[in-house]
Amino acid sequence: MHLPKAELHLHIEGTLEPELAFALAARNGVDLPYADTEELRKAYLFEDLQSFLDLYYALMAVLRTEEDFAELADAYLARAAAQGVRHAEIFFDPQAHTDRGVPIGTVIEGLGRALDRSEETHGISTQLIMCFLRDKSEASALETLEASKPYLHRISAVGLDSAEVGHPPAKFREVYAAATALGLRKVAHAGEEGPPEYIREALDVLGVERIDHGLRCMEDPELVGRLVSERIPLTLCPLSNVRLRAIDVLEQHPLRAMMDAGLLCTVNSDDPAYFGGYVGDTFHAVHEALGLDREHLRTLARNSFEAAFLDHDEERRARYLSEVEAYAFD
Ligand SMILES: [Zn+2]
Repeated sequence: MHLPKAELHLHIEGTLEPELAFALAARNGVDLPYADTEELRKAYLFEDLQSFLDLYYALMAVLRTEEDFAELADAYLARAAAQGVRHAEIFFDPQAHTDRGVPIGTVIEGLGRALDRSEETHGISTQLIMCFLRDKSEASALETLEASKPYLHRISAVGLDSAEVGHPPAKFREVYAAATALGLRKVAHAGEEGPPEYIREALDVLGVERIDHGLRCMEDPELVGRLVSERIPLTLCPLSNVRLRAIDVLEQHPLRAMMDAGLLCTVNSDDPAYFGGYVGDTFHAVHEALGLDREHLRTLARNSFEAAFLDHDEERRARYLSEVEAYAFD
């Protein structure tokens, strides 16, 4: 769906399509434990978040050089452009690479190479959000933040992702305070598999400005009231919720109820190579499964630009918003 939109919840490592994984494996001499792309695609039927993460980290072994990261980002941006994305705030997981010997500079400069030419090549403005893996220690997150200092001009915010349950936001209090001191903005995954309390903690202890997922806020009416009154954006990923079994079928997704409750919802693709669709596909899927009409979809697109970190460039935000209003559905 070509409706102009921003994508605010997208892990660049989760855009690694089987074809590119095999091409990079061949180029870098990495053995993948799958015969071909078809066999690999069959491994994409996940039980839960953990079974997805196991495959996700295994496949990252093919990403080694700046050129690999540049190609990965460029392939995503090309797909996103074809689905109406005008602005993308892209997550990356430095620890998933530094832990296997790839320097953080290789990751950031490689991604940066693709992002630098994105506006010209794909018509998409971009930002980078550096995520900490929450199943690792806070000390490791602090080391990562320290190592990122030569590249801070490329990073606009920090985030928190990976296995949620048992790793509450408060575990990362110190590193978020340090990120704030460096002038970085803050988001965190919360309330995907974890309880509503994790959403409160992300807001109160970490001071995040957006909640990634936030699905389980719906179990807590008081929290919903707060998210509505404070206009805290939620970056929802409906196809991911179904693939990772947070929701049985898309028809049961609470997106519509969340919009009706007045929450500032956005719709995103999370890890599109693994979850069956990019963000335009996701808009199309929720339109079909939840009966969202054109005005709902326009609201979701409008919300995505309102929630974007474009405060330094309000003219751009206004231009994108006017593109949403002017869009004619066919
Ligand atoms: Zn995510």
